[in-house]
Amino acid sequence: MKYCSLGSGSRGNSTLIASHNQAILIDCGFSRKVILQRIEQAGLSADALTGVFVTHEHGDHAKGVQALCELLDIPIYASFGTARKMAWIEHPLWRCIRSDEVVNSGALNVMPVVVPHDAEEPLQFVIENAEGKRLGVLSDLGTLTPHILNAYRGCHGLQLEANHDPEMLMNGPYPPGLRARVAGNFGHLSNQQCGELLQRLHWDGLRHVTAGHISEKNNARALVSQTLSLILGCSTDEVTLLEQDAISGWLQL
Ligand SMILES: [Zn+2]
Ligand SMILES: [Zn+2]
Repeated sequence: MKYCSLGSGSRGNSTLIASHNQAILIDCGFSRKVILQRIEQAGLSADALTGVFVTHEHGDHAKGVQALCELLDIPIYASFGTARKMAWIEHPLWRCIRSDEVVNSGALNVMPVVVPHDAEEPLQFVIENAEGKRLGVLSDLGTLTPHILNAYRGCHGLQLEANHDPEMLMNGPYPPGLRARVAGNFGHLSNQQCGELLQRLHWDGLRHVTAGHISEKNNARALVSQTLSLILGCSTDEVTLLEQDAISGWLQL
């Protein structure tokens, strides 16, 4: 299994995951044009896609989903709440997914996991291939729950949210209401919460850790790498930080 971020941050998120010449996307928060360019940049044909899994209805995750799936004639996998918000209930490509019910798409099995976030029915995903390689993709959650810690155990790759530094958020440009939303239990993970999560999920089989959804206004990339490299006991440049406007390159599990 290999994976590649096609961009991550408050202006758009998408992750491409491939195994045995088939691939899925987690989210498509970019226009169809941009996402097709980035898939091509990653060296993959869009025809390899067997479906798009949508975490929730926020624009930075769902913006380009429908246009892309209609073009390629592939399923949109989303919870009932997400589908209702996106007006997909009557859409012929929508497939309803539920927390903890594994869905097969091409060469990959995808397990949806419930997370606390201020959306209708948000899910995040653990992806596994036939060889038992596991990738955990986890962003847009305000707090850690026992259920999440349990579901993401034993992953060989982790793509985690490190959204903000609490001090920078408090002193940053956001109005108080938005600040409280981001820092709240249904907002986004701070660097420290991401670090705590990584500490709990760290095991011998873990090969790649990437940090994403990094705020451009309320975080500094150096703080993210510092926090995570300390936990991993590696140098700061061994932690991969995802970028908003560039693909990450493939990571192999
Ligand atoms: Zn988001
Ligand atoms: Zn969100």
